[in-house]
Amino acid sequence: MINKALEVLNKYYGYSSFRKGQDKIIEEILRGNDTVAIMPTGGGKSICYQVPALLLEGVTLVISPLISLMKDQVDSIRELGVEAAYINSSLSNNDIAAILEKLERGQLKIVYIAPERLESNSFISLIRDINISQVAIDEAHCVSQWGHDFRTSYRNVKGFIKSLNKRPIVTAFTATATEEVREDIVSLLNLSRPKVFIQGFDRENLKIQVIKGLSKKEFLLNYIKENSELSGIIYTATRNETDKVYEALTARGYSVGRYHAGLSESERTENQEAFVYDRVNIMVATNAFGMGIDKPNIRYVIHYNMPKNIESYYQEIGRAGRDGEKSECILLFSPSDVHTQKYIIDVGTNNPERKINEYKKLKQIMDFVHCNSCLRNYILNYFGEETSRECDNCSSCNLEGELIDKTIDAQKVLSCVYRMNRPYGVNMIIDVLRGSQNKKLKDLRLDELSTYGIMKDYSKEGLKEFINTLIAHSFLDSVEGEYPVIKLNQKSVEVLKGREKVIFKEPKKVEKVVINNDLFESLRNLRRELAAKEGVPPYIIFGDSSLKEMSVRYPSTLEQFLDISGVGEVKANKYASYFIEAIVAHLEENGIQVTWTFKKEGKATSILKADGNMEEHKEPITKTHESKTSDENSTSDSEKKSKEKSYEVTISMIRDKKSLGQISVEREIALTTVLTHVTEFLTTGSPVDFSVDFTDVFDEKTESLVMEAIKEVGANKLKPIKEKLPDYITYDQIKGVVLKNYSNLV
Ligand code: ADP
Repeated sequence: MINKALEVLNKYYGYSSFRKGQDKIIEEILRGNDTVAIMPTGGGKSICYQVPALLLEGVTLVISPLISLMKDQVDSIRELGVEAAYINSSLSNNDIAAILEKLERGQLKIVYIAPERLESNSFISLIRDINISQVAIDEAHCVSQWGHDFRTSYRNVKGFIKSLNKRPIVTAFTATATEEVREDIVSLLNLSRPKVFIQGFDRENLKIQVIKGLSKKEFLLNYIKENSELSGIIYTATRNETDKVYEALTARGYSVGRYHAGLSESERTENQEAFVYDRVNIMVATNAFGMGIDKPNIRYVIHYNMPKNIESYYQEIGRAGRDGEKSECILLFSPSDVHTQKYIIDVGTNNPERKINEYKKLKQIMDFVHCNSCLRNYILNYFGEETSRECDNCSSCNLEGELIDKTIDAQKVLSCVYRMNRPYGVNMIIDVLRGSQNKKLKDLRLDELSTYGIMKDYSKEGLKEFINTLIAHSFLDSVEGEYPVIKLNQKSVEVLKGREKVIFKEPKKVEKVVINNDLFESLRNLRRELAAKEGVPPYIIFGDSSLKEMSVRYPSTLEQFLDISGVGEVKANKYASYFIEAIVAHLEENGIQVTWTFKKEGKATSILKADGNMEEHKEPITKTHESKTSDENSTSDSEKKSKEKSYEVTISMIRDKKSLGQISVEREIALTTVLTHVTEFLTTGSPVDFSVDFTDVFDEKTESLVMEAIKEVGANKLKPIKEKLPDYITYDQIKGVVLKNYSNLV
């Protein structure tokens, strides 16, 4: 059974294996049993119900609370070649009637439904006789009032299932569930003795970092400078701070959006969409942003301020790296973050019990920030997972940066606080240490202290940062009140008496999260163009991981393209020619030779045509350079023949006086491929017994522009030629001009 599931995974999704746990869950569903799966965000829940949906007879209904996500989810499965639809309040009655009709005719495999719909008796009566194989409940924790997103409409699921003529398999999925919530899921959804799979909370691809005592702004600007082309979210604690960070980044010309509750709804929607569609790379936001964001290629989440508790923190960083690629989560901490959060709690609720609870949770995230051992373990233990192994992927485990002894400077600060005799705010302490002429200071005769002016070598900002770092590492206390004041604590005493040293880490140079090559960037641009044409977010076309793989493995035939993870048959059929064209141009410009080794087991050799019929795929889309499988034996004779045949077909059509454009259309292959066929023929050294009609590749004006550029930079490489020319002149045109003028074509 699982082999069939693997076939489906390979054929539609282009993945060669299941992720941890997916296979067991799918097997259980295919056995016809109710199933509960708790998997972390990005763990791959959708595939767990979609693969069975494709294998079971009948339709799978997916109950999902996020109307804003449904369209993207459905677009995404349609792109795979699966008949799918959604029903929610955004559709007109006519649209809904059309979908119901399709359902009755058995033309849909997956239908997403908002839970509110299940309240409608007319809907139930229309759907009760339909062959429903599975009801999959996404975000199943919404059924429980103990969960964090209780939705009353989820309570209708049970009655809905009961009212169906045939009971389908019922499956429930969530990323978060405590014991209580899990029990609610089973009883309130009326699951029948389900097997419960718990995948654990860990997200191994996320690097977790806490950075204390640095200038946040400076750090952020350095970070963005290195990573400006990646998608990332910067969370701040307040709207005001969001605006400030947004303005700072916009002023430096970065591609930024912002999101907070102070903006109009249309502005929020617009900014969110620009981010999801990769029109802007950076989103600066309060915690209002993120619900319903399914974007898988978010490479970093920076918390510019400490969030209010571990739950929010983990949920927010969970938005990074859903595609499983390496991503970074950085929390920038300063002691004033604690004041902000306390203020938010104080004004946020009058309920004393809740207040106490929120303070408790704040204390827990502060402990996390100051934790010296593995940060990942801290979080996993917090959520009740027993782990002790160090993760080697957090700022505690990877203590990098040089350690510097700051004991003497710390003693200067601490002894000043001691000598000032009563608690003052941080600014007054700084003034004393830097020897300020401040009148109030003089009135208080603080200029007579022996510590007056002993830290003149520090700037005001620098000293503030240093004192904040001392507080962040608990060498000093900051005490709340209308005006927060600084006090010594036991640790300060130890330092003053020379019994404890103050050792800080020199800040590490900011590094790029991922290093992408030029080809990746051009494939990303191509993906954005294709997505814009189709009106879908770019990640729906291919994920970053697929593009990354293409940019290092260089597939240049359809079969090789299908060997890329995340490339299924329908998508290959639709997009291969575009991507291959870009890849081949890159190979030619850079003179790269490729030796290809197939990776996917049982690589697909057939292509699913749009009408759903499988058709043997014989014709490679293109063959441009010495691309061979490293295992020559794996290239069958018929395959070799078909490759030879491909360029010969093109040449014989040229002999028949067909133009290159005509050939491209008739053969349904890219123009690049046709041009490559000509090159291939030339490399055989056979006599040229035909002339080529280039009229639909370039006109005279283009030809003379290209020739001028060639005079300057030579004809050996296409890229330097392209750089000399206006953008509208394509690689194909340059290639055509070179072929016409610099080969032995007549
Ligand atoms: P979740 O709903 O659990 O947050 P998704 O179902 O959205 O996660 O999957 C997250 C990402 O992982 C998607 O880009 C999906 O295509 C990818 N993915 C899921 N299963 C696999 C797999 N077996 N191999 C490779 N990628 C996978």
